[in-house]
Amino acid sequence: MKCVFKESDIAASAQLLATSSKVVILTHMSPDGDAMGSSLGLYHWLKSLPTSPQVNIVVPNAFPSFFNWMPDSQSILLFDKDTTSATDTLQNADLIVCTDFNEPKRIGALGELLLQVIDTTHTPSILIDHHLHPADFAQVVFSYPQSPSASELVYRLIRQWSALPDFPALNQHLSLPSATCIYTGMMTDTGNFSFNSNHSEMYEIVGDLVRIGVDKDYVYDQVFNAYSEDRMRLIGYCLYKKMQIFHEYHAAFISLSRKEMYKFNFRAGDSEGLVNMPMQIKGIYYSCFIREDKVLPAERHLANGSKIKIKISMRSKGDRPVNTFCHDIFSGGGHKNASGGEYYGSLENATNLFMQNYPKYFNK
Ligand code: 5GP
Ligand code: MN
Repeated sequence: MKCVFKESDIAASAQLLATSSKVVILTHMSPDGDAMGSSLGLYHWLKSLPTSPQVNIVVPNAFPSFFNWMPDSQSILLFDKDTTSATDTLQNADLIVCTDFNEPKRIGALGELLLQVIDTTHTPSILIDHHLHPADFAQVVFSYPQSPSASELVYRLIRQWSALPDFPALNQHLSLPSATCIYTGMMTDTGNFSFNSNHSEMYEIVGDLVRIGVDKDYVYDQVFNAYSEDRMRLIGYCLYKKMQIFHEYHAAFISLSRKEMYKFNFRAGDSEGLVNMPMQIKGIYYSCFIREDKVLPAERHLANGSKIKIKISMRSKGDRPVNTFCHDIFSGGGHKNASGGEYYGSLENATNLFMQNYPKYFNK
């Protein structure tokens, strides 16, 4: 993966990092492994600097329990639950770093607060991301859609920052907690190195992380072998009862209502990875999973009166983009082969929208 940072961006971000004493790191809604890994990876490195900056991570809502083991994950502020302290922290920051999202909309109501803080206090910000089309809100932007994960970008940036002779305060090696978090993000955003994973440099990075002491077998076990019995039964139910296959279009579709989720004691993260499963069927190249979510109080103004938000997840293989479908039909976007969107309305209407439109977008 070719990903050469601009010298001026490295210098500008290093200057900000070396001189800030209250850093806040933000990452996206329903944090996944890369959101957790990129934010915590950077957090641990910053905490190890001799300047001892105060560092806080704020996320819009809860992360799945299979990331609870990640060092210091319990200190992450959840904007929907710890609204007052998260707001105070953000308002008092002297540097904001955003990882693994490309536009304030992707962090919901927290994004509105971010824009307001930037607007009123002129707090400088750095964006570290690998999604297409970054919005224009950060002072220094590291946007590299060719990177398989934001965590890998964090690794590469730390390597460069820590080698700058002009910034001795940043000359700090990667600590084991930082390396472990970065590895977690690289592992999860490539499906344990099974897609976007043909870059030899990525394995050189993995080699370095293992040399630092990362126990990759432990990380795998913590993330992928840590589901609840309820989640396992939910997956079984979805695949047996709910999966529809459209052979002509090589597509699979699964929908899940709140009632069904309730039946399986649904917890954050319980449907993680479900959208990938139909792709294991020979000849299936498209997969869509839609799920009924509650509209959070902070999102009510976005919902046009709807109490329900439908979360859409899509996956595809090869040269079959699903981000255009998500963009056009579900106001979303994402990567060519992994995208998503949102729809404020009923599950039935969202399903109908999918059914009406997929033949126009999918290849037979
Ligand atoms: P997931 O299916 O894992 O939730 O999301 C896969 C990818 O789709 C994410 O990495 C992100 O790039 C994109 N994505 C998911 N939801 C949305 C959304 O609501 N809006 C946009 N623009 N992208 C999304
Ligand atoms: Mn990511």
